[in-house]
Amino acid sequence: MRTLTTIAELRAARAALPGPVGLVPTMGYLHEGHLGLVRAARAENASVVVSIFVNPTQFGPGEDLATYPRDLERDFKLSEHEGVDLVFAPSVSEMYPPDDAVTVDPGPIGSRLEGAARPGHFRGVGTVVTKLLNVVQPDRAYFGQKDAQQLVVIEHVVRGLFLPVTIVACPTVREPDGLALSSRNVRLTPTQRAAAPALYRGLARASNGWRAGERSPECLRAAVRAEVEPERELCLEYVSAAHPRTLEELQTVPAEGVLLSLASHAGSVRLIDNVRLGEEGATG
Ligand code: AMP
Repeated sequence: MRTLTTIAELRAARAALPGPVGLVPTMGYLHEGHLGLVRAARAENASVVVSIFVNPTQFGPGEDLATYPRDLERDFKLSEHEGVDLVFAPSVSEMYPPDDAVTVDPGPIGSRLEGAARPGHFRGVGTVVTKLLNVVQPDRAYFGQKDAQQLVVIEHVVRGLFLPVTIVACPTVREPDGLALSSRNVRLTPTQRAAAPALYRGLARASNGWRAGERSPECLRAAVRAEVEPERELCLEYVSAAHPRTLEELQTVPAEGVLLSLASHAGSVRLIDNVRLGEEGATG
């Protein structure tokens, strides 16, 4: 496995890789959720590239850019163990040279849900993912359903800019108690960690309702709240029952089903999670 930090080195190494090439973009501090993406990429491609870049433009003022967990050496070892061919870990100035002011704004889809809570977040995501796709030029790029809106936004950007890449969605990897794996989970105190599974319990309660025939978006949202609100360590920011493609908040359920998602604070840590409810049942 090679570890590269400059675009020039990456382009040269990429040219020599056998195709097809799969890219797994990450912000590092790798866990089993990331490794699920790497394994999916490994299974479907001749070569796998993992990028590790804590992208400053997707963090707002007062968010956790400075405290975002990092451990590059451990990430390199885990990547090597999974058979990754190249790790691209550029500096901020490599990705954003001082004279660079180009951005990729996904439009209104980036202003809903997470975008409403984190203005500019999806401009940062759209910009960095477009840069990474242009640098690596993979045949396929792998993203987690855990960040459901991110996936929708990236598919939207790829379609809108005619980017020649296939986006592959991978299922959310969870702890045995249901908590979705996240690099930020290490910053939970023991009491917050004990309370956090209520988020998935809420989504699971709504999924059970869905399977039993519940089709009222408001009742689905209420099922999540009923499970989470009693947890004093958790402070819900939103619970959404939205259209899975347009992300518009629903009054009635369309044929495409529902993206049921939430964001919650546990102290200074912000957690998100979601499930997709469709005719085939509930996933995620
Ligand atoms: P991050 O490093 O948090 O930016 O995540 C990098 C990629 O890993 C994104 O596509 C995430 O959606 C995905 N990912 C993060 N956590 C999980 C998880 N628990 N299950 C599946 N994918 C995940």
